[in-house]
Amino acid sequence: NADAAVHQAKDDGRNNYAFYQPEQTHVIEQWVRLEPELRRALALDQFRVFYQPQLDAVSGKISGVEALLRWQHPTDGLMPPGMFLPIIEEIGLMNQVGDWVLEQACAQAAAWKKAGYPVFRIAVNIAGQQVLNHSLVTTVTELLSKYDIDPDQLELEIVENIVMKYDDAAQPVLNELRNLGVRLALDDFGTGYSSLSYLKMLPVQKVKIDQSLVRDIPDDPNDEAIAKAIIALSHSLNLSVCAEGVETEEQKAFLRNENCDQLQGYLISRPIPAAELTLWLDQHILDHP
Ligand code: C2E
Ligand code: MG
Ligand code: MG
Ligand code: MG
Repeated sequence: NADAAVHQAKDDGRNNYAFYQPEQTHVIEQWVRLEPELRRALALDQFRVFYQPQLDAVSGKISGVEALLRWQHPTDGLMPPGMFLPIIEEIGLMNQVGDWVLEQACAQAAAWKKAGYPVFRIAVNIAGQQVLNHSLVTTVTELLSKYDIDPDQLELEIVENIVMKYDDAAQPVLNELRNLGVRLALDDFGTGYSSLSYLKMLPVQKVKIDQSLVRDIPDDPNDEAIAKAIIALSHSLNLSVCAEGVETEEQKAFLRNENCDQLQGYLISRPIPAAELTLWLDQHILDHP
């Protein structure tokens, strides 16, 4: 993921959110250096939540935003989650940080509502450790009530290996969340095992096609075929489909033509801070009344 960060920083010249470019420091040295800093990051208010819009593929209107965590490191700059989330999980801070992200996202949803923006979904990524923690259901319930958010407006994104790894423990928590009326999306679909039986078994309403499958559309006929099949299968199970990593007009045209429901990717917008997304919204609403 350090690689990805370098890559992202390089082609990121046009905005101010270029990620920190790691030196060739050994991963372990990096880890040892960052761990004590991460333990203080929440108290020092160094985490940020960026938002990336998701569009309805037919109307072009905004259908939601995904909340994505960043760490504003005091000397190294803005860090992508791939560089520090594994450490957070390892040192047992995932629940605390995850709760913080959830609260930020709910507070932001309430702020947009108060400012009169049309209601769109807020998607938040949930780590395996959070699903295992029974207080997640309580936290979500409290946040929905505190910020007066319709449960249907909140979407939790889970990856399938959470369920594969924890299975018996995860299933009841997901069911409880679903019973609250919160929506569930299966993230990064098409990678790993992507077992069809999980799709049937999980109480999810949406599938997110992984960006690795979108990347080589239209050059790779296999990826096209897989993306097409995922869309058709999801629809036959009454699930909606969001494609991630949409970077080109060709990809957008292909996905729309295959009846993909939602589009997310740099073509539409990179993940940006809330204040900037608000400006993006103003412009987007003018363009798509
Ligand atoms: P994800 O949930 O699959 O999020 C999508 C990732 O793709 C984000 O990376 C986003 O910046 C990136 N992306 C979006 N559009 C494009 C595009 O057009 N091209 C390319 N190349 N990339 C695109 P990011 O922000 O670095 O996050 C990486 C992963 O970290 C996320 O993948 C998610 O699994 C995890 N993550 C992020 N925030 C949180 C969080 O608050 N909690 C948890 N548990 N995990 C999080
Ligand atoms: Mg996600
Ligand atoms: Mg994903
Ligand atoms: Mg991913």
